[in-house]
Amino acid sequence: MKIMFLGAPGAGKGTQAEHTSARLGIPAISTGAIIREAIKNETAMGLAAKAYTEKGALVPDEVVIGIIKERLEMDDCKNGYILDGFPRTVVQAEALDAMGIEMDAVISIEVPDEAIIARMGGRRVCPKCSATYHVDFKPSKDGVTCDACGEALTLRRDDSPEVVADRLRIYHEQTEPLKDYYASKGRMKIVIGQDKVEDTTALTDAAIDSMK
Ligand code: ADP
Ligand code: ZN
Repeated sequence: MKIMFLGAPGAGKGTQAEHTSARLGIPAISTGAIIREAIKNETAMGLAAKAYTEKGALVPDEVVIGIIKERLEMDDCKNGYILDGFPRTVVQAEALDAMGIEMDAVISIEVPDEAIIARMGGRRVCPKCSATYHVDFKPSKDGVTCDACGEALTLRRDDSPEVVADRLRIYHEQTEPLKDYYASKGRMKIVIGQDKVEDTTALTDAAIDSMK
């Protein structure tokens, strides 16, 4: 199955993508995580992307489209995959179409801006394996290190309040139009993000299973 998660930054796409990946046994592909990894490793792509992500701007379409093309050609994508954070612009969605890729399910996770702003301050990320946590909603077992690999959790620099406001503005301008784009293709379901992760998960599972 090919599944896409749409939604504002901090709406819970990554959490639901990871859950769905484990449930269905298909990889979750996060362009944000790939970009962060490249920045950490100081690759040419990472160095080019760094300035954009730090100020909350989108990385240029041609860079992200290149990343996705390369990733989707890998062997583990043969039986399906989950897209988390791609596409984020109409140009990116059109590139996916041009690659001949049709989604089986597009899930739009919807959370009001005020709730997102409140959530972002509590977000934590593992700098080593990219697992994500939240101090209130999805804490790691000891609250300070990663359950998966034991690394000390950190804050993402682009989760500061000023940058979050910019990311939300860009989301509404550039990414939200994709809801109409995919709704008109008839494979989109809206999931209203709940306060408890497991409640959102239950709604997400039901939405995906109804499109199998
Ligand atoms: P979030 O969903 O919380 O905004 P991500 O981890 O998906 O965070 O993305 C972090 C940053 O990486 C974005 O703010 C942006 O700069 C860059 N990025 C990720 N995916 C894309 C994309 N599809 N197009 C452009 N930039 C992207
Ligand atoms: Zn980790």
